[in-house]
Amino acid sequence: MHFLIILCCLFLPLHSAFAAVDIALRGKDPVRLEDVYQQDGIPYIAIEDALDVVGLTGHWNSITHSFKISTKHGWAEISPASGFLKIADEYYPLKEKPRFIDGRLRVTDNFILNQLAQLTGRSIYFRNLDPGTDNLPAKQQSSGLEKLFAFLLNKKVAASGPMLRAVALDPGHGGLDTGVIASSGYKEKQLNLEIAEKLAKQLKMKLGIPIYLSRDGDYELTMEQRLQSASKDDVDIWLLFHAQAAFSSELRGVSLFVRPEEINQNIVVQEAVEEIVEVNLSDSMLLANELALALRKSAIEVRGIYPSSRLSLGRGNLPTVQIELGFLSNSDELQQLQNPEYQQQIVQALYAGIRQYAKQSKEKIDGVN
Ligand SMILES: [Zn+2]
Repeated sequence: MHFLIILCCLFLPLHSAFAAVDIALRGKDPVRLEDVYQQDGIPYIAIEDALDVVGLTGHWNSITHSFKISTKHGWAEISPASGFLKIADEYYPLKEKPRFIDGRLRVTDNFILNQLAQLTGRSIYFRNLDPGTDNLPAKQQSSGLEKLFAFLLNKKVAASGPMLRAVALDPGHGGLDTGVIASSGYKEKQLNLEIAEKLAKQLKMKLGIPIYLSRDGDYELTMEQRLQSASKDDVDIWLLFHAQAAFSSELRGVSLFVRPEEINQNIVVQEAVEEIVEVNLSDSMLLANELALALRKSAIEVRGIYPSSRLSLGRGNLPTVQIELGFLSNSDELQQLQNPEYQQQIVQALYAGIRQYAKQSKEKIDGVN
């Protein structure tokens, strides 16, 4: 099989760091909310955040399993199980049911513009700052990408599944196994977890797909436990996070590792492929390449893509990349890696790379059909 892969600046414009919306009571200054989750192309905003902006309050009632909103005219009520807003004994239909996402009850733009406006008695301004619908509408979802994965993994994929079904993230080390320790005492296990958790949030917010973290705290894992999240049936990508140390304090930059058998012999892998090239990249290489390009586009130094024997335990053809985030032995880079803004820059670039990979995989299949 021979594919023509066009990698020349086919980047979509990068979205803001997170999905975000502006909400205001008409005539007042808008308030920016960033805890927004895009699902099926619709933004979901935590009800408490939205109420706060328009000057209302409410609380979750765990007995009635509903959220009660206090208004001038008495209580209003919504519930994740119901497609209605209840005011006194009247029921008003909602376009979308509220959903619990990442531990908070969330409502859509439609609820804010209609029902919330009704409750406040004033019109509400709403602007989605990130209308990029990464989670493609259902009709477009039966793309070639699922066919590709279904073919490679020999698994059945629901025709209406998302662009990627799920992503597994493995923050290296944990607990007594600290990984590399910087001279300042900063530990690799902490960096790995911070980056993985931030990327998990970004992926959940923008793609609305399950993200499996091998650990969500500071504890040790067996190799079996580590592989557990990656071996789930719906996982399409597995990323492992680590950081390095070297005797030379000069070395810096991100290094990417794939399975040795997936390194392509016919191209120089130390450089990401930016020209139009005719190569037969393995999926892990394709993913690593997109991650490298996205990182470089964000002005983050990438040393190259290398073979790693450590990945031999992973599933045969599951697209897998081990990301060495940088050198804790380089004092400048150490400082950067601890900076939340720089971490966010890395996370945003990794997200863009994953997204681009999904897009490229789809084109690859479409080119064959
Ligand atoms: Zn490590």
